[in-house]
Amino acid sequence: MLDSTLQATYDQVLHRNPGEPEFHQAVREVFESLEVVQSRHPEYQDHSILMRLCEPERQIIFRVPWVDDDGVVQVNRGFRVEYNSALGPYKGGLRFHPSVNLGIVKFLGFEQIFKNSLTGLPIGGGKGGSDFDPHGRSDGEIMRFCQSFMTELHRHMGEYTDVPAGDIGVGAREIGYLFGQYKRLTNRYEAGVLTGKGLDWGGSLVRKEATGYGAAIFADEMLKANGSSFDGRRVAVSGSGNVAIYAIEKVRQLGGIPVTASDSTGYVVDENGVDLALLQQIKEVERGRIVEYAERRGNGARFVANGSVWDVPVDIALPCATQNELNVEDARTLVKNGVLAVSEGANMPCTPEAVAVFREADVRYGPGKAANAGGVATSALEMQQNASRDAWSFEHTEERLTQIMKGIHTTCLETADEFGRPGDYALGANVAGFRKVADAMIAFGVI
Ligand code: NDP
Repeated sequence: MLDSTLQATYDQVLHRNPGEPEFHQAVREVFESLEVVQSRHPEYQDHSILMRLCEPERQIIFRVPWVDDDGVVQVNRGFRVEYNSALGPYKGGLRFHPSVNLGIVKFLGFEQIFKNSLTGLPIGGGKGGSDFDPHGRSDGEIMRFCQSFMTELHRHMGEYTDVPAGDIGVGAREIGYLFGQYKRLTNRYEAGVLTGKGLDWGGSLVRKEATGYGAAIFADEMLKANGSSFDGRRVAVSGSGNVAIYAIEKVRQLGGIPVTASDSTGYVVDENGVDLALLQQIKEVERGRIVEYAERRGNGARFVANGSVWDVPVDIALPCATQNELNVEDARTLVKNGVLAVSEGANMPCTPEAVAVFREADVRYGPGKAANAGGVATSALEMQQNASRDAWSFEHTEERLTQIMKGIHTTCLETADEFGRPGDYALGANVAGFRKVADAMIAFGVI
């Protein structure tokens, strides 16, 4: 239940944004945390901060025509939602997936505002993408699509304006094609306009690893705060993309045993611990399917086509695939199996009902806007390196990432304590992220 003021604002959000359930879900989740803030800070209400926060500063929707390998003209839809620039230029990834629509981009952009604020770095919130499906497309098709996408998007970008990065379906290959076209159209080598770049042309060490590493580090901090650790613990990771692969790597470094990986066709269980090199070969090099992992691994690794990766008994869960991938039944199964902590590598992977089950069972729950903030934080470090024409070592950059993740963990805990909800990381993340943005918006006047 929301109080009457929050409910009225939420009703207006529903009315103004029909048919966007993921966006409604993200807004409601934040509003539920903000009740405690409203009573202590009437100035936020006086300045209509919430209504202004829910309305993106700018929403760009455009046609993306391109020619496939058979010479057939294809048309996709492109999006960029420039959500909030109170703390810095819009910053957030591009997602290429057939499920992308305006509501999905708005939910991701809304989350991004608070996440970016939590990093403590000067970045605003934005998100974009397309309903283009890269699966099964040739390199030439990916290139032509990216070039067409950037032909429109470039006029809205700039290192002080809007700085996109990758997300689902957008990795180093796509960022390369996008940056190449940006450079060509603008005749500027403006490295700080995109992050996730290749290491030879303005990219940062650790950016590739940062989101997955950060989600594992956040889990480690939650475990340590409860007198526990990864040591010898079984860990379920979902997904097998950028976030999942490097979460698996960091879990191993921290002493845990990652026993699963998945994609949209099913999941694998490997009781001996996931073989990272094999997973990378299949997923990053060959762009194959997860079933091939079980086929090639032997030694008892098995593939399950139908079912939930969360059925596998584990101590720690790292959902790293996509939104709403862990539902209330999955949460109950995890609790029954004795799960200690859940750290979200993906954005909003747990449904609200699943989160309620974790809360009820006193499972440590790290929400995505805190637990996966390492990716965007390292993107901001990439921007710093670009601005100073510098390139930092792996060790230095990883140390910065680790400190940022520890800082976010502490901020969440301290804020939850301040508002009388000890251990509630979701409340801590929402309130701490919100306050900085709200204060900046008040300072700027009604704009
Ligand atoms: P990738 O495209 O590299 O990998 C996505 C993985 O999730 C793939 O294994 C994919 O399987 C699986 N997946 C995607 N959609 C679905 C679905 N509908 N059902 C089942 N499986 C699915 O993306 P990332 O690893 O970059 O992103 C994963 C999550 O992390 C997303 O929620 C993203 O928003 C979030 N995130 C990413 C950041 C980054 O730096 N990359 C930063 C912060 C958050 P398949 O190939 O079969 O589709």
